[in-house]
Amino acid sequence: MNLERFKGTINLAIPLHRFTTWKIGGIADMVVIPQDKTDLEILVYELSKTNTPWLILGNGSNILFSDNGYRGAVIILGDGFKHISTEDSMIRAGAAASLHQLAQKTAQTGLAGLEELAGIPGTVGGAAFVNAGAHGKSLMDYCTAVHGINALGKQTTLTTFRPEYRSGGLPDNFIITDIDLKLTFKNPSEIHALMTKYLEKRRSTQPLADASAGCTFKNPDNRGAGRLIDELGLKGFQKGRAMISSKHANFIINIGEAKASDVIDIIRHVRMKVWKSYGVRLQLEVLIIDEYGNPQNPGRIP
Ligand SMILES: Cc1cc2nc3c(=O)[nH]c(=O)nc-3n(C[C@H](O)[C@H](O)[C@H](O)COP(=O)(O)OP(=O)(O)OC[C@H]3O[C@@H](n4cnc5c(N)ncnc54)[C@H](O)[C@@H]3O)c2cc1C
Repeated sequence: MNLERFKGTINLAIPLHRFTTWKIGGIADMVVIPQDKTDLEILVYELSKTNTPWLILGNGSNILFSDNGYRGAVIILGDGFKHISTEDSMIRAGAAASLHQLAQKTAQTGLAGLEELAGIPGTVGGAAFVNAGAHGKSLMDYCTAVHGINALGKQTTLTTFRPEYRSGGLPDNFIITDIDLKLTFKNPSEIHALMTKYLEKRRSTQPLADASAGCTFKNPDNRGAGRLIDELGLKGFQKGRAMISSKHANFIINIGEAKASDVIDIIRHVRMKVWKSYGVRLQLEVLIIDEYGNPQNPGRIP
């Protein structure tokens, strides 16, 4: 690869558990941090020229990497992608900016909409890709444009996309660099009160001090996945060093040096139990990928 003009950082043989909130994941061949869009274009061009597989990572708060790591380059967007700017009710946020900070900053400006999303520990890019949300609101509800690098390595803007529950409806291999949002002005103290209420709810119901990736399963229609798991008495269920949280049954926590295989064993067990007891097929909310970047769906009920 010719990365002479590349200004970012390249690290070889890096453990991925450092970059995920689950603190799980084996060694990646390469972790690359481009500093700006030019860097990113150079990088994607060189990676495709050399047929090097790559994947883009945000804050690693919705992903389970394999214990075997990843055979390719993990791209993490650097400081040049962390900007947040507002003009009237329009916001442009860089993909590496924190979603929580975006929610706080817009609230301070008197712009309402993101109150429910405060406290979600993702980046703007990751949150847009998975359409992160809570309490019936999702990030893509407010998104008017997504800027990024397409599979051919060219800067592109998308203005039509079909977001769904936990999917931004964006093309595969599209690296989000910034998104535009339109929010509405409201009384800042009302926004602040609402945000405080949702943050308090998070603190009281979620095991925020433990390593996890948030909810493991999507909520099936009209039912909370956590409630179904709880009703089966599975809180505290443990495999290896992974355990179903006693605070929230949809969270699988790493109680210290858990393996991806421990988490996967729990996922299989839960899916089978919920299927046998309720006839409900739980779908994964977290993304599980193998060392070649292929999505995995362990224990899926056919
Ligand atoms: C304690 C806790 C609470 C949580 N609460 C919630 C919640 O209430 N609601 C909710 O929806 N989620 C929740 N989550 C899950 C997670 O925080 C969100 O899904 C978050 O938006 C993921 O963002 P990320 O940057 O960590 O993405 P990552 O996990 O790094 O990546 C997720 C996906 O997005 C892709 N991606 C990342 N960056 C980009 C980019 N720039 N361009 C294109 N694709 C990209 C990745 O390739 C991957 O496929 C929670 C997690 C934790 C640990």
